[in-house]
Amino acid sequence: MRCIICEKISLKIICRKCQRDYFVPVFNKRELSKDFFVHSFYEYDLLKELLNAKYQFYGDRIYNILGKLAFKKFGEEFEFPLIVDAIGVDDHVRHDFSHTAILTKHLKSHNIVPKYNLLKAQNIIKYAGKSLEFRKNNPRNFKYFGKKKKMVILVDDIVTTGSTLLEAKRCLEQNECEVLFALTLSDARF
Ligand SMILES: [Zn+2]
Repeated sequence: MRCIICEKISLKIICRKCQRDYFVPVFNKRELSKDFFVHSFYEYDLLKELLNAKYQFYGDRIYNILGKLAFKKFGEEFEFPLIVDAIGVDDHVRHDFSHTAILTKHLKSHNIVPKYNLLKAQNIIKYAGKSLEFRKNNPRNFKYFGKKKKMVILVDDIVTTGSTLLEAKRCLEQNECEVLFALTLSDARF
């Protein structure tokens, strides 16, 4: 196959050289509500086209590469006195894979346990390109299927207004969980 960036022959969908040259994660954080931060790793312009891959059959390969480069490293370096669950925001399956489940998987480490299928949107309306007002008027209505009183890291591929992550956080808090922070590959304001 060919690398989708430089188009040279490559075993990976993004070749090792392009991974090194263009996809070194840069740590960024934004406060979404008081003392609640979302951490992200890539500028939105860099990922905009690539992230549309979640709608394509080869999307799992791109998410696996980015997850490995950014989330795996984060998981290995994350120090915390307790075991924490990593939960993907609505990891429902499209084209045989779930992009948030792939990212969550790469966080697995000595004190992060990836959990799947625990947080589901009851309303699967698409938010892409919609205003904050539209998003507020059409909440996701998350439902949590996990255990209460857990420490949680929320995972998603991209943060734009932050309304989805904040709604997911509220849902977990209603289930007596504590959300430490959120992790996304990219922040649309970065
Ligand atoms: Zn390349």
